[in-house]
Amino acid sequence: MRLVTYAARGQIRAGALEGDWVVDLGRASRLREARASVGWRGAALPSSMSRLLANGDGAIALARETVAAIGPALADPARAETLRQDGIAWARGEVRLLPPVPTPPKIICVGRNYAEHAREGGAAPPEIPIYFGRFPHSLLAPGAPYVLPRASTQVDFEGELAVVIGRTGHQVDEARALEHVAGYTIFNDISIRDFQRRTSQWMIGKNFDRSGPLGPALVTCDEIPDPQRLTVTVDVSGERMQEADTRTMIFSVAYLIADVSRALTLEPGDIIATGTPSGVGFARTPPRWLRAGDVVRVSITGLDVLETPVVAA
Ligand code: ZN
Repeated sequence: MRLVTYAARGQIRAGALEGDWVVDLGRASRLREARASVGWRGAALPSSMSRLLANGDGAIALARETVAAIGPALADPARAETLRQDGIAWARGEVRLLPPVPTPPKIICVGRNYAEHAREGGAAPPEIPIYFGRFPHSLLAPGAPYVLPRASTQVDFEGELAVVIGRTGHQVDEARALEHVAGYTIFNDISIRDFQRRTSQWMIGKNFDRSGPLGPALVTCDEIPDPQRLTVTVDVSGERMQEADTRTMIFSVAYLIADVSRALTLEPGDIIATGTPSGVGFARTPPRWLRAGDVVRVSITGLDVLETPVVAA
């Protein structure tokens, strides 16, 4: 299942992609008689992704049943039009997608999690994970233009697998860590290198406004059984820049969840960005900084494509 957050007619709501449609989960679940079959006690699914995730596996199960149940109606043009008029289903082009989790409680990023990327930056592969944080204001909607900042000309791309937490966890056992994952999505950790390197703390160069495209959808774990068997590719204006298999991560998704949860409690909606492979712009000769007119496409097996056009300030 492909969960999204979408904006339409001035509202921001949780939905699911179904073919060319976006199904509004809150409204569609109200049509369903089978809520009891998944043990759901409420009247309908919540309208926001954060509350949907906070309701755990039961909400995901009901969302899946809701999407399956509405499928036949969407295939019938007359019934689909009725659903469209009621705001229960939207044609894909009628809505604007937002980051699937628009305001995550935490965005935990991992630096240098691929050995070749560490080396291209002149660093040894780390023996313990390097973490840094982003704030929600730094996220950017999938497909939305990234506006180059006036303060820098050293703007770089970083395609990454992002993990969305679905279950609260503290001191999580690595062997059971993936049970805490709601699903996966794509992240482009756009980095303002000169600001990132002004001091030993990377925070400011990683937190420029709307510099972190996330999406397009949160793909649930049933579709991604093993996050270490995915291929990440990044193309900038049609040229392949990065390509790696997630099995070459130094620290696996399960390890990162176990490690970080020794320190802090992971909550539904938290994001872990797992680091970028080699091939980023700063390490090229000459450096390949992003410029107006570029289009950055980050693709990951099973997660679709996160596309970001780059525009001038
Ligand atoms: Zn990164």
